[in-house]
Amino acid sequence: MGTATDAVAAAVDQARPAATWWGGLGYRERRTHLLAWKRHIARRVDELAALIATETRKSPDDAALEVMLAVEHLDWAARNAAKVLGRRRVPAGMLAANHAATLEYLPLGVVGVIGPWNYPVYTPLGSVSYALAAGNAVVFKPSEHTPETGAWLATAWSEAVPGAPVLQAVLGDGTIGAALVWSGVDKIAFTGSAATARKVMATCAETLTPLVVEGGGKDAMIVAADADLDAAARAAAFGGFGNAGQTCAGVERVYVVRPVYEDFLNRLSALAVGSFEMTTPEQPSIVRAHVEDAIGRGGRAIVGGAGSVGAGTVEPVILADVPEDSIAVTEETFGPTLVVNPVDSVDEAITRSNASKYGLAASIFSRDSHGALRTARRLRAGAASINAVLGFAGVPSLPFGGLGDSGFGRIHGADGLREFSRAQSVTRQRFGPPMDLMRLDRDPHTMRRALKLFRMRHGR
Ligand code: NAD
Repeated sequence: MGTATDAVAAAVDQARPAATWWGGLGYRERRTHLLAWKRHIARRVDELAALIATETRKSPDDAALEVMLAVEHLDWAARNAAKVLGRRRVPAGMLAANHAATLEYLPLGVVGVIGPWNYPVYTPLGSVSYALAAGNAVVFKPSEHTPETGAWLATAWSEAVPGAPVLQAVLGDGTIGAALVWSGVDKIAFTGSAATARKVMATCAETLTPLVVEGGGKDAMIVAADADLDAAARAAAFGGFGNAGQTCAGVERVYVVRPVYEDFLNRLSALAVGSFEMTTPEQPSIVRAHVEDAIGRGGRAIVGGAGSVGAGTVEPVILADVPEDSIAVTEETFGPTLVVNPVDSVDEAITRSNASKYGLAASIFSRDSHGALRTARRLRAGAASINAVLGFAGVPSLPFGGLGDSGFGRIHGADGLREFSRAQSVTRQRFGPPMDLMRLDRDPHTMRRALKLFRMRHGR
C-alpha cells in the first residue's frame, strides 16, 4: 500500500507545476497542444482500438467506434474552451452601474480522474479532455481491467506534448483510486458504480474535495403505438446487447404499449442472435442472478434464459412480463439482457421509467415528434434520444450526466468545461457611485432616497 500510495502522491506532486504551466498558457496555445494530442490518437486509431479490444474483449470495430466518438469530444473541447470559459463582460445591473463586471472560468489546478472498464477511452476522456481544455493537469487512474489503455493515452500525451506531465496515468486497483481521492487534488471526476461512488464521496467529504459522479443506469426505452417498430427493435437490440450490454446508458428496460407489444417482441426476438464476451469474470454471475430472479418471480423468457449465461460469454436474453420489483428491473444488469414489459399507455411507461433509483438516459420511439419531446421532458433522466438510442453520445455540445444513483455533475459540452473550472467574478469601479451606500459615514438623505427608489422598483 505504501509504495502504491507514494506513486500517486508523486504523480500529484509532479502535476502541480505542470498545472501551473498549462493553466498559464493562453487558450490558443492549449488548443494547439490538445489538437496535437488528438491527431496523435486519430492516426493510431487501429493500435489503440486493438489494445481496447484485447483488454475489454469487445470487437476491434466497436473499439474503433469508441475512439472516434472520444476524439470528436476532444476536438470540441479544444476548440470551444475559449468561447465557453474566456473572460466576458456581463451587465453590472442598476445598483452597480458604475462598475464594469467581468466573468471568467479559471482552471482548478489538478484533477483526478477515475475511470471504468466498459468504455476505457470514451468514458474517462469525457472528463480528461474537458478538464485539460479548461486548463487543468490531470492524474488519471484507469480501471484495473484496462490499465494498458489508460497508460497508452498518457504516453500519447507525453509524445504529442513533451515537456510537462500535464496528463499522467497511475495504475492499480481501488486502493490507488482511494489514494488519488485522498491526495489533495482539486477535483475528482469519478465514473463507475454507485457503490464505489458512495465510498469516493465519503472520502471527498473528509477533504472537502469537489466531485463529479458518472454512475450507472437502468435506462428505459418507451415504444408508443405509432412507433416504427422495426427501428425500435433494432435500437433496442443495439442498445441492450451491444458491447455485451455493458453500457452505462444502454437500454435495460423496454416499456411497450399493449397494441404493439407482441409485434415488437417478435421483431426484437428475431434480432437477438450471437454471443457476447463479457469483460470481467464477475459480471456473468450478476447477469445470471438477474435472469433467475426475473423468471423466479413469474417473468417469461422469450429468448434464452439462465442457461444463456456462460463463464465468460453470454447469449442474448429477452425477458417479458417481469414484475417491477425484480432485481432485473431495479438494479443495473450490465449484460446482454432486456426486460420488455407491456404498458397501458405512454403515461404508464413514463411512471415506470421514472420509478428507478437511477436517472441516466432514456429513449422514446414515436412518429409524433412533439409528443415524444413532451414525453422526454417528463422523464427523470439526464438525457433522452428520440427514435434512436444513445443519440446524445456523439453530440459533444450536449452535457452528459445523471441524477440519483446515476450521479451528479456534467461532463461534455459547455457544462462539462465549466465542471472543471471555477467561476471568477471581477468588478472594476469606473467612476464614483451617484448614491454611495457602501461607506461608514453614510449620508442619511442618500439612504432615504435609495429606500424610496428601492420601494418604487421592487415594492410595486
Ligand atoms: P467500479 O465502481 O467498480 O470502479 C470504477 C473505478 O473506481 C475503477 O477504476 C476502480 O478501480 C475504482 N475504485 C474502486 N474502489 C475505489 C475506491 N474505494 N476509491 C476510489 N476508486 C475506487 O465500476 P466499474 O465496474 O469499473 O464500471 C462499471 C460501472 O461504471 C457501471 O455501473 C457503469 O454503468 C458505470 N459507468 C458509468 C458511465 C457514465 O458516464 N455515467 C460510463 C461508463 C460506466
